[in-house]
Amino acid sequence: MGKAEIFVCPHCGREIWISEGLGFADCPEIVFTCRTGEYPHLRERMEPPAYQQTRDLLNAGAAPFDIDGLPQQNRYGRNCYICPDCHILQSRFTITLQLPDGTLFIPEYRCETCNAPLRPYPKRSKKPALLHCKNCNTTFDMHAENITRMMAWID
Ligand SMILES: [Zn+2]
Ligand SMILES: [Zn+2]
Repeated sequence: MGKAEIFVCPHCGREIWISEGLGFADCPEIVFTCRTGEYPHLRERMEPPAYQQTRDLLNAGAAPFDIDGLPQQNRYGRNCYICPDCHILQSRFTITLQLPDGTLFIPEYRCETCNAPLRPYPKRSKKPALLHCKNCNTTFDMHAENITRMMAWID
């Protein structure tokens, strides 16, 4: 079970979804379905190069780690990230892998607009954050007073 915050772009009215947690189709049995060395459901959820990194490690014997853990630990599921350079908030599908030697690995996620490595953004943070609207290619302050926010549950 997950939830999404929906922001309405003040310039063009397009909805921007920032989701957290797990949806119905995000169960590990589906996500880690492997077909001839590829993970099509994982590829839908992760952008390159994080997907390729993860695929290669899974094929080399790494295993998903703590997929039944508490959602607050952010080991598995959608989480919020922020770009340290352009301050744009983005959600990513997070997974943690345990390598055959026991070390834990988290793929590197990159900003969709400037390619900088993303950092986790704490839930309900009030820190400044921008959103990027792909429809009209503008950014806006998600905490500004005139911004419409809505919540939705993802089953
Ligand atoms: Zn827009
Ligand atoms: Zn950026």
